[in-house]
Amino acid sequence: MIPYGCQSIDEDDIAAVADVLRGDFLTGGPAVDRFEAALAAAVDSPYAVACANGTAALHLGMLALGIGPGTTVVVPSLTFLASANAVRYVGAEVRFADVDPDTGLLTPETLAAAVEQGGSASVHAAVAVHLNGRCVDLDGIAQVNKLYGLKLVEDACHAVGGAGMVAGRREMVGSCPVSDLACFSFHPVKTIAMGEGGAVTTRSREIAERVRLLRNHGMTRDPDTFLDLDEGFDAHGAANPWYYEMHEPGFNYRATDIHCALGESQLRKLPAFLARRRALAARYDRLLAGLAPAVVPVARVAEDDGWHLYSVLIDFAGLGRSRADVMRGLRDRGIGTQVHYFPVHRQPYYSRRYGTLRLPGADAYYRRQLSLPLHLRMAEEDVDRVVAALADVLGLAGGVASSRADVA
Ligand SMILES: *Cc1c(COP(=O)(O)O)cnc(C)c1O
Repeated sequence: MIPYGCQSIDEDDIAAVADVLRGDFLTGGPAVDRFEAALAAAVDSPYAVACANGTAALHLGMLALGIGPGTTVVVPSLTFLASANAVRYVGAEVRFADVDPDTGLLTPETLAAAVEQGGSASVHAAVAVHLNGRCVDLDGIAQVNKLYGLKLVEDACHAVGGAGMVAGRREMVGSCPVSDLACFSFHPVKTIAMGEGGAVTTRSREIAERVRLLRNHGMTRDPDTFLDLDEGFDAHGAANPWYYEMHEPGFNYRATDIHCALGESQLRKLPAFLARRRALAARYDRLLAGLAPAVVPVARVAEDDGWHLYSVLIDFAGLGRSRADVMRGLRDRGIGTQVHYFPVHRQPYYSRRYGTLRLPGADAYYRRQLSLPLHLRMAEEDVDRVVAALADVLGLAGGVASSRADVA
């Protein structure tokens, strides 16, 4: 069985984790600092704060930006649940935005439409999701945000190692040239694996410090911030060694040294991982050309993409096939696929809360989307096998035979 995604763990990853297990710190130790420094360097950001998972990163990001009750955050509907749920965790409301039907991405137009419709007064922030690892139009989105005075959170969970063009420069995803912060996930199906893990990156020291504080219960040991001076200091004015303070409740969203050691080891391989994913994706592109227009890869700028998923859009209606049957047919041939994603505005929780919304771009993308296997355990022949099986299941087998001749 070829799963749609999975981790790639080598002996050096195992050795890095074993070193931590033999050492002095399982959590709160130097492996966390090392991972944060390595991630900051990898995404070209001055600050990186590791945390328990990508969802915790989004939650901490919302808190750090002061999003809370009485505020609204625009979130594209075509994303994983967590992008929207993080807004609800802090008591704010979600305003779902539509996406481009062919890329699944939030655009400046769909963002502006979401802000306008329903009124812009309560809207404080937007979440931009780099779906499939493809960077959104940050220039255009930043312009809309400026117009309405919105903060910007990048959900970069699909896009570690990717880049986008901002003001004519190539900028790494996570370097936050126009956003307040970016959130990453290192779940095993993502490009690098920590088991569970995530991070917030930002250019703002203040935001980084707030995220650090809130990921650890809101506890501060910094004497400069103590409010209770009688308890905080001894008779000579020195800070009491046991003392810490909390000014607002935070969470236990720390990442452990065990997870961070794995993350640091995996990060070292990120360029190689991405090169391999890009090569497999390029092979898919070439082979799938024979199945157009019934099957088309989601359009992208290959050399800069983070390549979390290899997404195709299939004209199931035109072919008279149900997606469930196609997925079952592929599974019978040993090939795992998945749908990313059922639009979040249609989840029962959200449709109960916000009513039935009309987001035709998200619906059109969802109706046709299928994620084909893309991961490091795949060989070139696996790509060929997936495309041949897809052609077979869809009854398009002639097309793939002719396109195959072009592939070296
Ligand atoms: C995976 C993912 C998340 C959540 O990350 P976890 O580490 O699983 O909590 C959030 N947003 C998007 C777009 C994701 O793909």
